Amino acid sequence: MMSRLARLIKLLDDKELDGVLVSKPVNVRYFSGFTGDSTVLIVDRQHKLLITDGRYDDQARVESPQFEIVKHEDGLIKMVADRLKAINLSTVGFEGNVMTFDQHAKLRELLPDCKFVSIDLNPLRQIKDGGEIELIKRACSIADRAFGEVLNHIRAGVREIDIAAELEHQMRRLGSERPAFETIVASGLNGSYPHARASEKLIVDGEFVTMDFGAVFKGYHSDITRTVMVGRANDEQRRLYDAVLDAQLHGLREIRVGASGKSVDKKVRDVLSMHGLEKYFTHGLGHGVGLEIHEEPRLSRLSKCEALAAGMVVTDEPGIYIVDVGGLRIEDTVLVTEDEAQPLTHSLKHLIELSPKF
Ligand code: ZN
Ligand code: ZN
Repeated sequence: MMSRLARLIKLLDDKELDGVLVSKPVNVRYFSGFTGDSTVLIVDRQHKLLITDGRYDDQARVESPQFEIVKHEDGLIKMVADRLKAINLSTVGFEGNVMTFDQHAKLRELLPDCKFVSIDLNPLRQIKDGGEIELIKRACSIADRAFGEVLNHIRAGVREIDIAAELEHQMRRLGSERPAFETIVASGLNGSYPHARASEKLIVDGEFVTMDFGAVFKGYHSDITRTVMVGRANDEQRRLYDAVLDAQLHGLREIRVGASGKSVDKKVRDVLSMHGLEKYFTHGLGHGVGLEIHEEPRLSRLSKCEALAAGMVVTDEPGIYIVDVGGLRIEDTVLVTEDEAQPLTHSLKHLIELSPKF
């Protein structure tokens, strides 16, 4: 926690700020250890304040021993303003992509002489430390084990939501706090929507079933997609599957220290282009994973990441989506290391053909 705070203080130096307000719950957690919500941290070179309400008073003392805990009774923003005035900060960073317009307006009204500067704290969480990587590995292992279990439940005549329920049940049983996001199960034509919801549609013999899901362990997420076949794949289905797998494996080879977010995405797009499928790959290649399911860095055409660094955790998830035909995706959560990329999800990736009946 101290090295995280040291990086926050360094940001104050770089941006010439007297102090900073942290209000996004995952950032509050990252810098203080506090896991509740509706809380603001005030950090400057001398002070570390955690402002919360009566529900969280005791919890904050236990989780954030290095912070002075301040309980507000007349409103969070009012107390933030009182404390900023008391410690006499004049130029203060705040999370402009998190604080509401009304909260910001109120702060300015209460502190007309204070200058507020919008800053983005999310990039400070991009490089994971050893402890964080262990938690992500645990979340990945839960998802892998749930996938192994769910294979026993997929057959013709089962609904997509039954598969989603089974995945979520297994992950919960294995220690997941909650699903990392709304579990996607898309079969047949539904596979042509990258973010299809699990529906009441029955799975039919001869269809792909794409499952995109993840677990959360101590706040840290995992993200995996696997596509399986119910029954025998025909030649065209096998060709499509092998092309996406080829692209996904090339992605793993490109994810390394120094590669840019754009270049990794481009390489995978080029591989799909060789297979004549590039136009069906309609989203970015991947995203960072940590306290949030989607965070920095992005691997896409629009990525701002100039160079991947050791300790970043990203996804590699090419997919193709063909209207009136269907689609498929294969995704791993991957650790960037000095050597080659290290997948943290390990479920089988060759085309699994499940018996349509039991
Ligand atoms: Zn996913
Ligand atoms: Zn993803």
